[in-house]
Amino acid sequence: MTKTDIRKEDTVAVIAGRDRGKQGRVLSVDRKHGRVLVEHVMMMKKHVRPNPQKQIKGGVAESESPVSLSNVMLICATCGPTRTARQIDADGRRSRSCRKCGSPIERKS
Ligand SMILES: [Zn+2]
Repeated sequence: MTKTDIRKEDTVAVIAGRDRGKQGRVLSVDRKHGRVLVEHVMMMKKHVRPNPQKQIKGGVAESESPVSLSNVMLICATCGPTRTARQIDADGRRSRSCRKCGSPIERKS
């Protein structure tokens, strides 16, 4: 299992690879394989045959493919892509904050 602060619905920046510089919403995190699915990042074209019974039209379908967790970074509202610190608040909840400016990074899910 890979340790990560990245959660579903976070906005991340891609820092390496083919889609470097893109930003997107996290669709799912695969901690077992250390990979993350980011909306509109690493789009793959797939040619599909029509299947009328499943209401599938033929043609070229596009879908995301997972990128490595090491190639994405959480985004701070003031600094942009950043490393994160984590702490446990007084009420026992875990939270994340920006390493540069210390401002908290809210989680959306
Ligand atoms: Zn910051």
